[in-house]
Amino acid sequence: MSKIAMTTPLVEMDGDEMTRILWKMIKDDLLIPFVDLKTEYYDLGLKHRDETNDQVTVDSAKAALKYGVAVKCATITPNAARVKEYNLKEMYKSPNGTIRAIMDGTVFRAPIIVKGVEPYVKTWKKPITIARHAYGDVYKATEMKIPGPGKVELVYTAEDGTETRELVHDFKSAGIVQGQHNLIPSITSFAKSCFNYALETKQDLWFASKDTISKKYDHTFKDIFQEIFDAEYKEKFEKAGITYFYTLIDDAVARVMKSEGGYIWACKNYDGDVMSDMVATAFGSLAMMTSVLVSPDGKFEYEAAHGTVQRHYYKHLAGEETSTNSVATIFAWSGALRKRAQLDSLKDLENFADKLEEATIKTIEEGYMTKDLALVSTLKDIHPLNSGDFIKAIAERLAALI
Ligand code: NAP
Ligand code: MG
Repeated sequence: MSKIAMTTPLVEMDGDEMTRILWKMIKDDLLIPFVDLKTEYYDLGLKHRDETNDQVTVDSAKAALKYGVAVKCATITPNAARVKEYNLKEMYKSPNGTIRAIMDGTVFRAPIIVKGVEPYVKTWKKPITIARHAYGDVYKATEMKIPGPGKVELVYTAEDGTETRELVHDFKSAGIVQGQHNLIPSITSFAKSCFNYALETKQDLWFASKDTISKKYDHTFKDIFQEIFDAEYKEKFEKAGITYFYTLIDDAVARVMKSEGGYIWACKNYDGDVMSDMVATAFGSLAMMTSVLVSPDGKFEYEAAHGTVQRHYYKHLAGEETSTNSVATIFAWSGALRKRAQLDSLKDLENFADKLEEATIKTIEEGYMTKDLALVSTLKDIHPLNSGDFIKAIAERLAALI
């Protein structure tokens, strides 16, 4: 059998720990036997990030902008413990943060739904896609510890030197302070990405913030969404039979819990970080959540929503068997290959991406799954598999489908 051809390379961003182990297995067992895989490889493993002073992360993001489609493995965001563990030159920023800042995109996360893994929330019938704003707020905040009494002010110095001041607090004791910012162009592209994605996937769009308390900061988000909707999307949404709905974040959380799903929930950066883990877990497993970063001019970076699964990696290093779920990472590859296929008009490659997902879901629905799913699955006949055997079980079904 001849392998499926590619024309433009995918930008491949390798990563860390257990997901790096899965990454190689996925390539060896599910991709290379079927596809004449063309990638431009960037090693975002922490060791190589340190060797390049994190330049490799910046280069990989630029390559994603150049080629239009990237697939990324989970990576370690260093903290103090990691600096010691890897003997790092410095505590590098989150690679995802760096990539998001360069691509100026919005992250869309959706659960992969399979028979036998029922959502914890009884009313949820359809996936809930979370759109997370990928720039600013607490992720780009400047912080200060205030040692004792004194005034803290916000000062804006215009280019002509004029100053505008706002008192943050007149401290009578020691305290803490944080300055956050965001940018009108970034909020605008966030809003547009959300409206476009809603139209593309024909789902309602919800957006929520805390505009009643944050009358300038959060209110600006609300206003921008409404202005862009009224000016550019209102009619298109009516035609598509979908709606845009704004509410307060606490009201949104309550409504989400009572909903059926089947919509996109747009969140500010922090809300999206927190809510996507809640939604993923409530849908059955953090390992079943896909993630795609979409830039406003239509460049895509696909990944799993979970981290590097450190605890399993240490078991693996100790020679113990692991049962780590590779589904979200497989779907990152299938998503990236499908998008590449669509951009390059490669029917066979698009078909392969569909079959890869089909084989993965079929494997689980036939009762062959990793331990995290076996624990929650309602199927009668369950066969828990280790990390490698699960991927091999998918490979068998994939070969049969092709
Ligand atoms: P994690 O890797 O998401 O794992 C947390 C726990 O969730 C695991 O210990 C495991 O639970 C379960 N889990 C997650 N993914 C799983 C999978 N595929 N299969 C089975 N179980 C899975 O989060 P973490 O351990 O807090 O973080 C580890 C590293 O990942 C950190 O260095 C962090 O910086 C990084 N991280 C990277 C990204 C990214 O690159 N996008 C995102 C988040 C975190 P059990 O242990 O109970 O089995
Ligand atoms: Mg998070």
